[in-house]
Amino acid sequence: MFEKIVIANRGEIALRILRACKEMGIKTVAVHSEADKDLKHVLLADETVCIGPNSSLESYLNIPAIISAAELTDSQAIHPGYGFLSENADFAERVEKSGFVFIGPRPESIRIMGDKVAAIESMIASNVPTVPGSNGPLTDDAERNLKLGREIGYPVIIKASGGGGGRGMRVVRSESNLLNAISLTKAEAGAAFNNDTVYMEKYLENPRHIEIQVIADEHGNAVHLAERDCSMQRRHQKVVEEAPGPGISNEIRAEIGQRCADACVTFGYRGAGTFEFLFENDEFYFIEMNTRLQVEHPVTEYITGVDLVREQIRIAAGLPLSFKQSDIHVNGHSIECRINAENAKTFMPSPGKITYYHPPGGPGVRVDSHIYNGYTVPPYYDSMIGKVITYGATREIAIARMKTALNEMVIEGIQTNIPLHLEILEDTNFAIGGTNIHYLEKKLGLQ
Ligand code: ADP
Repeated sequence: MFEKIVIANRGEIALRILRACKEMGIKTVAVHSEADKDLKHVLLADETVCIGPNSSLESYLNIPAIISAAELTDSQAIHPGYGFLSENADFAERVEKSGFVFIGPRPESIRIMGDKVAAIESMIASNVPTVPGSNGPLTDDAERNLKLGREIGYPVIIKASGGGGGRGMRVVRSESNLLNAISLTKAEAGAAFNNDTVYMEKYLENPRHIEIQVIADEHGNAVHLAERDCSMQRRHQKVVEEAPGPGISNEIRAEIGQRCADACVTFGYRGAGTFEFLFENDEFYFIEMNTRLQVEHPVTEYITGVDLVREQIRIAAGLPLSFKQSDIHVNGHSIECRINAENAKTFMPSPGKITYYHPPGGPGVRVDSHIYNGYTVPPYYDSMIGKVITYGATREIAIARMKTALNEMVIEGIQTNIPLHLEILEDTNFAIGGTNIHYLEKKLGLQ
């Protein structure tokens, strides 16, 4: 096992990784920007290295500075968390070439999944269901593209192969707009992602977002850890997540989960990963694979009892998975609310000093957050300041506990989106479960 790990991230996820390391007896190095010297995990780490100024470009995205910190502190491995460099294949490669272990997949896996056309091709080869579409890049052949559009059937969506974060996509509802949409998306993709490859997919009108958590080791073992429903979104950003997905039967779960686990073996995947699907009329359609730990991983931890971060570290150290598929059972229900420092109505970020903080507690309540009394939320990074995760034997209990927890939680000095969460938790369709990816924006009058 490693003796010392560099945590190349900030905020709640850095603290989550630090806690796992402490439990495993591993020393930690917190690398941080100038603005983040008072972050909770920086205060708790065994060693700290300031890697640059406030801007993430010069700190959390500064590859040479992070690798030097690992050298300077004599660390053995680097955990990238999520966001920042976690899905940067060049970073993973540089880490390994410098003699450290990257706690994540092989750089080749990150590279393939970061290119959506390549990802779809490897899913097709591995029997994972994809969205009907071009299954490859669009060419400049107008006739061929028009024919493709007719075969797929309108509406279609043109997507950038190098796109991410909900950018680089255009919905086309009729043939007359197709060619123009392709050239616009291509031009935008070239400018934004330095890659003008685009492809075409059937546009699904009212899908849910269902994703499958997988974990695989270096020894050919891969296990799926059921699904999460992350359909409650605003601007393609997840707001509330839950596991298991309402209405997903054991049979459906076992079938799609096994396909994802088998695919990991087929393409030699290592570490934690997530297959994201759109789910409509009981069918799964692969859209992308995330080659990292996800923000919403705690809901999976609650229903399966697996500690995903601990397992990631064990796998990176070359150990086999500590469980088999037959050991994994879905128990109860878990919900996560992402707490953001923002106005609950306008969504304007609200950084600043937290003058009073009182976290919730009680049975089945987990708070993953780096904030504390007197902590100042800096304006330079993502507005998420933590997550409240609840668990119960049933979905109703998990929801009731979330309402209790959020009503108990006090954060003063800054604004948060807790009022929005309380509104969602009172929503009658949310109570039924299974709302689609447009539901929240429609409810908020944004669509
Ligand atoms: P990104 O990497 O930018 O997040 P995704 O491929 O995951 O891109 O798609 C982001 C979102 O765009 C999806 O969650 C969904 O809301 C919408 N979307 C993408 N493809 C389709 C499709 N074929 N039909 C309907 N909506 C889609």
